[in-house]
Amino acid sequence: MNQAATDKAQRGLDLEKVRADFPILERLVHDKPLVYLDTAATAQRPLAVLEAIDGFYRKHNANIHRGVHLLSQEATEDYEQARLKIARFINAPSERELVFTRGTTESINLVAHSFLRPRLQPGDEILITWMEHHSNIVPWQLLCEETGAVLKVVPMNRDGELEMDALAEMLSERVKLLGVVQISNALGTVNPVMEICQMARQHGIPVLVDGAQAMPHQAVDVQALGCDFYCFSGHKMYGPTGIGALWARAEHLQSMQPYQGGGEMIRHVTFEKSEFNEAPAKFEAGTPNIAGAIGLGAAVDYLQQLGMDNVAAHEAQLLAYGSEKLAEVDGFRMIGTAANKAGVMSFVLGDIHANDVGTLVDLHGVAIRTGHHCAMPVAQFFGVPATARASLGIYNTFEEIDVLADALQKTSEMFA
Ligand code: PLP
Repeated sequence: MNQAATDKAQRGLDLEKVRADFPILERLVHDKPLVYLDTAATAQRPLAVLEAIDGFYRKHNANIHRGVHLLSQEATEDYEQARLKIARFINAPSERELVFTRGTTESINLVAHSFLRPRLQPGDEILITWMEHHSNIVPWQLLCEETGAVLKVVPMNRDGELEMDALAEMLSERVKLLGVVQISNALGTVNPVMEICQMARQHGIPVLVDGAQAMPHQAVDVQALGCDFYCFSGHKMYGPTGIGALWARAEHLQSMQPYQGGGEMIRHVTFEKSEFNEAPAKFEAGTPNIAGAIGLGAAVDYLQQLGMDNVAAHEAQLLAYGSEKLAEVDGFRMIGTAANKAGVMSFVLGDIHANDVGTLVDLHGVAIRTGHHCAMPVAQFFGVPATARASLGIYNTFEEIDVLADALQKTSEMFA
């Protein structure tokens, strides 16, 4: 980051300027200004990201790693620069430890297939937590069915916080991997991942962290966390869809078998045998999402310019304000009241179905999520069929929370 950017980052968010960076915020929804409170599902993209993608296709488009012509060299350079930027953003020891994937889901599946599957014996355990997204549940279930391993689940309390004592008791030499979400998309809980990694390390258990919701909200340092695998998605952090990454310790990547076969991941091929490339190329078979990676690099530049501490502080203020303001709405009940929470407010409104709530506030221009948020066990735990969820991003304002509160109050009165 240059000095001007650093100075700006230290001054806090210039919200008006931030909002002006997002063209979609100018549009109307049902003739009302858009109030976008669904960033946990997918964030909006700033001009810097849109322009990076557009610029790539307009000026540099070519396939990477395989051309001697200038365009191909430029495209390769831009793609690899993006890898370097993203690796530095999470303080990875080397950009060679950063594998581009389609996103968090593919990163977790890659670890399941290439790292864990060959290491599992019947009776081994995979540990996850009660608040995982389906993408950190189903790949492990499939693996258990295939290998005879057993999936164990760390419980949580009624605030949506992990039961750390239970977690400590569940760690044993039978556990071959622990998967944990850093920030829950359904509850907003910020889990003590650093502490969890320390506990797991004492038993030699590798830890996979689902960082999908953490990346857009707070600074991430994979070395400080002490995890083994870190997974995230570009579209949650103001970058494009269809791109994300897996960070893994070099020794793991080296020991892992390729996930998919094809071009780029090989060094030498005969009909008898193929010799594989080094990581990260070993895990990037075929033509990758080049523009997506470049767009994600631009998103990282953008977040760095804002300053992740400013981002986290802004969202913390909004969350505090929103939690108080929404509590005044008739029938409002927050689901997820952890002491350490990020910008996610899941709730029920009396006994009005969440889908009705979502549909009615949409008429006020307010976009919120409704349903199980791809974390069905969380809804089951709280005994609700679904929740509504307002999730916060860097462009949200206090006034927008007021619009949501007002729309919810009107909804509540309609059903009174
Ligand atoms: N993990 C969490 C906590 C999420 O919120 C999401 C998406 O909502 C995912 C994983 C899956 O991300 P993707 O669909 O981008 O692979």
